[in-house]
Amino acid sequence: MSELNLQHLKKVYEGDVVAVHDFNIDIKDGEFIVIVGPSGCGKSTSLRMIAGLEEISSGKAILDGKDITDVASKNRDMAMVFQNYALYAHMTIYQNLAFSLTLRHVDKKEIHRKVMAVAAMLNLDEQLNKKPKQLSGGQRQRVALGRALVRTPKIFLFDEPLSNLDAKLRVKMRREIKILHQKITATMIYVTHDQVEALTLADRIVVMSMGHVQQIGTPLEIYSNPNNKFVASFVGNPPMNFFYGKISADGNKFVTDDFSFDLDEKRKIMLKEYINKDVILGVRPEHFIPKGDLKAKVEIVEHLGAHTLFNCSINRTKAKIKFEGWLDYKEGDDIIFSFNQDLICFFDKRNEERIR
Ligand code: ADP
Repeated sequence: MSELNLQHLKKVYEGDVVAVHDFNIDIKDGEFIVIVGPSGCGKSTSLRMIAGLEEISSGKAILDGKDITDVASKNRDMAMVFQNYALYAHMTIYQNLAFSLTLRHVDKKEIHRKVMAVAAMLNLDEQLNKKPKQLSGGQRQRVALGRALVRTPKIFLFDEPLSNLDAKLRVKMRREIKILHQKITATMIYVTHDQVEALTLADRIVVMSMGHVQQIGTPLEIYSNPNNKFVASFVGNPPMNFFYGKISADGNKFVTDDFSFDLDEKRKIMLKEYINKDVILGVRPEHFIPKGDLKAKVEIVEHLGAHTLFNCSINRTKAKIKFEGWLDYKEGDDIIFSFNQDLICFFDKRNEERIR
């Protein structure tokens, strides 16, 4: 069992820099949590407070019912995998894998059993007598994972473990980590700036911005039910379109300088307090419908195989629209569209919170 409960975690660095404000979460046994956000949002600081590498300024961390807020890092029974692998260059792969157990004076036979089991799991059997510099980037990253695995810690912590790998290898290693999690069902906390890694790996995602947790939810909740404009804009590629406008005086239309459309009954009810007020409409490229009474001019056509992506303009407003199929349009053509109103989002312009 390894459940982690974080209560009002806060980090203030010297000079009153608040890196993390009020981080709260209940992490269940075996859960894969991904903390995602742009550079400087407080992801690593949060992970380092969990690991005990950074002092917690206020708040509490409870591991399996025990308060570990002031427990030293080495006594927290967590293993961390870093992006720079941190392998020992002069040691063989076998020695690298065995190192943490040797330090803890684990019995030699037991060390051998664990190292061989982990090497088999990570496909490193053939590499055990080599030195790190003889291995590829992916293999080295696997050794770094293996060093965490031999210890069977309560929680695995990953700090951008794949960001030094090229794009293809990153995708491969991402799958390997996912398979690994399914095999060993350990609690994992993973930090990344890459929203695709978050969507593909996580049971639950924590989205952070400027030291604040913006939303915690399953990948589907984060993608289709964002709490605010930041979350909506950070997750998804190509990103969500945002259209700035107003709700008309009769409450029936969304109106911008460049286009307007009739709201359906559900939207009218939801937006009744926003009559004559500024709102932001958020529409993912795949949430346009290829029929209706709105028109956009195609500027660039990108064939993605199963879909066609149009960079277009609705008068002066730019939009990215994605339709199913390989569609034969050229620059300058008009496309006809409407919005799938069940899937679009409205945000209050004043605070950028989702209107529900
Ligand atoms: P991320 O991992 O999301 O890129 P960090 O957690 O590393 O972000 O940093 C969050 C904020 O805290 C940033 O503004 C960063 O400049 C600041 N910060 C990080 N480490 C220190 C430190 N040792 N001293 C002062 N400020 C720091």
